[in-house]
Amino acid sequence: MKGRRPAAWHTGTVVAVAPETPSARRITVDVPTWPGNDAGSHLDIRLTAPDGYQAQRSYSIASAGEGTRVVLAVDELPDGEVSPFLVHELAVGDTIELHGPLGAFFVWQPPESSDLMPAPVQLIAGGSGVVPLFAMLSAHEAAGDPTEFRLLYSVRTPADVFFRPELDAAMGVDYIYTREAPKGWPTAAGRISRAALEAAILPPDRAPRIYVCGPTPFVEAVADWLVDLGHPTTSIRTERFGGS
Ligand SMILES: Cc1cc2nc3c(=O)[nH]c(=O)nc-3n(C[C@H](O)[C@H](O)[C@H](O)COP(=O)(O)OP(=O)(O)OC[C@H]3O[C@@H](n4cnc5c(N)ncnc54)[C@H](O)[C@@H]3O)c2cc1C
Repeated sequence: MKGRRPAAWHTGTVVAVAPETPSARRITVDVPTWPGNDAGSHLDIRLTAPDGYQAQRSYSIASAGEGTRVVLAVDELPDGEVSPFLVHELAVGDTIELHGPLGAFFVWQPPESSDLMPAPVQLIAGGSGVVPLFAMLSAHEAAGDPTEFRLLYSVRTPADVFFRPELDAAMGVDYIYTREAPKGWPTAAGRISRAALEAAILPPDRAPRIYVCGPTPFVEAVADWLVDLGHPTTSIRTERFGGS
């Protein structure tokens, strides 16, 4: 296990931006003073307007490890204050203020070598909530960790899937499409239900460690169903992105 990485304010320079989906953008920031971060942690971005007005929002980190390149994936809320700026206006070469890394609870670290039979891991994402779970999936692969990992990803349409190339190459990824499913998909598009959740995830007798992330209503519904299905609360970790 890595030592504690104290959170602090840093200045980063945007080094790459690329469309992630029709409404989201991947942003890579070089932060020379970044202490590294565990998979699943997040940071706060603070923007300052020329008149001094400031706005601050949290974003999960899609990357993990010791490097100074921090990768974010931001979905635009059309009526939002900060996300439209990050998706449309922030440009390569711009500097931004970042506070982090944050969140010691919603992180995944490779099992200790003394942990002979690590519990399998079930990740459950709603929309952009896939960002920290993608970091966990990538860190697990990078560590060559043999623990079984599964991701259930609830997403509006196939075009809205974040990290598409990487997830296509990963094992154990299941999708629930809420608005439009691909042609020939075995189930009709629709909101995740208790039954669909039960059918798609590791059962309680496999004792998975479960990470759930997404909009607040999604996380709350899924967490309630998980407990209802018999998963102990101590095995469930949640991260809420907001919204009602
Ligand atoms: C720990 C954490 C990690 C996060 N990581 C990410 C991330 O990796 N990628 C990402 O795109 N976003 C992430 N978010 C959400 C992000 O912080 C902002 O809330 C989001 O970008 C909207 O900000 P805004 O200023 O554009 O909208 P605001 O001006 O703050 O809000 C506009 C309207 O949208 C509603 N709203 C706010 N957030 C949400 C939401 N998540 N879903 C639905 N409605 C919402 C508000 O209630 C308001 O009505 C994260 C949030 C948290 C707490």
